[in-house]
Amino acid sequence: MKGWSIETLHADHAQALREDRVLYDSETDHQRLRVFENPTFGRILTLDDVVQVTEGDNFIYHEMLTHVPILAHGAARRVLIIGGGDGGMAREVLRHASVEHVTMIEIDAGVVDFSRQYLPGISAGAFDDPRLHLTIADGADYMRETAERFDVIIVDSTDPVGPGEVLFTDTFYGHARRALAPGGILVTQNGVPFLQGEELTNTMRAFRALFSDATCYLATVPTYAGGPMAFGWGTDGSARQVTLTQLRDRFAAAGIASDYYTPEVHLAAFALPGYVARLMP
Ligand code: SAM
Repeated sequence: MKGWSIETLHADHAQALREDRVLYDSETDHQRLRVFENPTFGRILTLDDVVQVTEGDNFIYHEMLTHVPILAHGAARRVLIIGGGDGGMAREVLRHASVEHVTMIEIDAGVVDFSRQYLPGISAGAFDDPRLHLTIADGADYMRETAERFDVIIVDSTDPVGPGEVLFTDTFYGHARRALAPGGILVTQNGVPFLQGEELTNTMRAFRALFSDATCYLATVPTYAGGPMAFGWGTDGSARQVTLTQLRDRFAAAGIASDYYTPEVHLAAFALPGYVARLMP
């Protein structure tokens, strides 16, 4: 349909977003990169025609993949982001003054350069924060080779197609576990279970073999179509035992303004409906 972006990530479900103005449409070395404007969601970035981030609803996704592990951990100083080229994940991680060092491994410099120019509100200055250390590389290679240790590792990748596929493998998860400091937490973008259930089951099977605490938590992001999105959670620590009082105290001390995350939402996000619980191995 002319004037509409049709996302066909799923075999028998498509999402259409009206394109008021196409700002950019080109191939990088890794993927097709487009940005267009939509009346409801503002500027939208797609990679290979799959929605990656929108100005309108990215806060939900980025708040839940950062504040949940960081506040549950309680003393996260070193954070690793795999992917995240739009800078939104770094933006939210860096809101935590307690975080001293953020390593970001992004495979496509075009996404970073491009997001800084066309979607500056997503990164909101994160790329200029001295605590952020960005490397352009394949996250799977980095994870295999790094000797660094991290309190929180966030996999903010595309879906398991194209360059993102390696980030959904048992090998990658095993290397990620090795890169966690004691009590560290691995969280992952794990798709929309209603339409990508097998992706969640596969990740959870790998997490169950690697971590004493392996589960997922949920949040609904309007432009990740098909219902709630799952975030993989793996740790050998006790971070999921954090209490509401502890979270309230930590959230207040962090002094972070949020539009989705609250300590109550944090705890509730781990309550899984039957159809998601049945996807857990
Ligand atoms: N929020 C989006 C989602 O849930 O699908 C993810 C957004 S972010 C833009 C995804 C990033 O992962 C992209 O910048 C992409 O270039 C990056 N990426 C994909 N495969 C990668 C890999 N193997 N190593 C590092 N970054 C990768």
